[in-house]
Amino acid sequence: MLNHVLKLFVGHIVYYLLNLLHPILVPIVMKILSWEPPKQKPNPVRARVGKKLAVPETIQETEPPIKLTDLKPSLDYRQILKECQEAGKPIKPVKHRKPISKDTTCPHCEAPYTYIYSNATISLPDKCGRVQKHKCKICNHQWFPAKYRKHITLFCPYCGQRIDMKVHRKGFDKFKCINPECEYRQKVGQRYTWRDYSICLDAVQRYVPPKTKLSASHFSSASIAVALFFFISFPLSSREVASILSGTFGLSVSHQSILNWAYAMAYYFHPLLDALPVHLSNTWVVDETYLLYEGKWGYLFTVLDGEHGSILAQVFSPTRTVAAAFAVLEKASRKFDLTTCGLITIVTDGLASYPPAIQLLASQTKGQFQHCKVIGLKDGKVKNQYRKYKNLIENYYSVLKPYYYRTRGFGSFQGAVTFSVLFTLYYNYLHPSDRFNDKPIVQIDNLNYSHPVLAWKGLIEKATAA
Ligand SMILES: [Zn+2]
Ligand SMILES: [Zn+2]
Repeated sequence: MLNHVLKLFVGHIVYYLLNLLHPILVPIVMKILSWEPPKQKPNPVRARVGKKLAVPETIQETEPPIKLTDLKPSLDYRQILKECQEAGKPIKPVKHRKPISKDTTCPHCEAPYTYIYSNATISLPDKCGRVQKHKCKICNHQWFPAKYRKHITLFCPYCGQRIDMKVHRKGFDKFKCINPECEYRQKVGQRYTWRDYSICLDAVQRYVPPKTKLSASHFSSASIAVALFFFISFPLSSREVASILSGTFGLSVSHQSILNWAYAMAYYFHPLLDALPVHLSNTWVVDETYLLYEGKWGYLFTVLDGEHGSILAQVFSPTRTVAAAFAVLEKASRKFDLTTCGLITIVTDGLASYPPAIQLLASQTKGQFQHCKVIGLKDGKVKNQYRKYKNLIENYYSVLKPYYYRTRGFGSFQGAVTFSVLFTLYYNYLHPSDRFNDKPIVQIDNLNYSHPVLAWKGLIEKATAA
């Protein structure tokens, strides 16, 4: 009986407690039931890289910065002199104790050298020694003479503030406008940047194949055509070709003659290559590969047409600098009418020389460019949309590499340049491509393609006639 009363009592208490706690318990239960595992935070670095891979970067057309010499003087020294004269405090010319150049004028008020001091001597932090600062007696402006400046002084064309030099790279200095209220920053969403280029194209474009003449040869053009067919259409050495010619055709030719003929063809075709027809599409695929010359590494830069795979331009350079990348892009751009051809997409790998080179090309020509950086274009997995460019490059290297390996490195820089000319000629106009039903990528008009030796004969005639 007592037991039953206790049970009833406990039951009542539980009921009462449940009723009391109901408003607290229900939300807790609801929360437990509706729990979801937390979402993983996206990796900011990965997101940025992924975005870079997927979206081609349009080359922004930006205004060039304002140079110090273009800046109009904000004050007029004559006006200040006159005002001071009228106020009874005339400014007298400076008595120079230290000599000062007579063409020095104040950049702020155009005061002549007679009002400019040269006595504030200070030490520069990078141990350039003690240098003289100039000071204007009329407007109190102080400045360093241009020869002591580490880099040029530039001003933002959008907000007028002086822009800071951020990095120095081989070939250019990068400047940035740090003004948070800059008009450009508010419009575009990023800071105004400018690269001041100091690249020298001489080292890249100076080399042409050595002058070698074909006319002195006592062999017929048909014999030379057979020799060149074997030497250039197959990755054979000149000695192997000489033995084929004597063994099969009874032609006694020294291996040096074959090399000379190849050099002569490179010499003739170096200027002619630019005039030969080529497929032009608005996608360029750019890549560089190492080639050995004189025991050192050189770099063969190539621009391929993104639709057909023909070589648009090739440049062999001792370095991988901005100058080399710019040289090959500029060479390719000469084949286009940039004012009418529209937007050109340049697909490259991750080499750091390409973005500044493309920027320079965009600033020097009237073309519109966008840059598409694809990491692992040559040797790595790439996404589907870039797969066809990877195929083009692989196709190209599958033909190039056997040719290069027969040489085991070039004896000279000019040897490498000769190779690049002959290879472009062969790859574009003679090599039977499986993507074009065993026909060359581009066919030259009036050239007899019925037999490769006849095509070579036609090319030799074309070269010597020009
Ligand atoms: Zn002044
Ligand atoms: Zn600015």
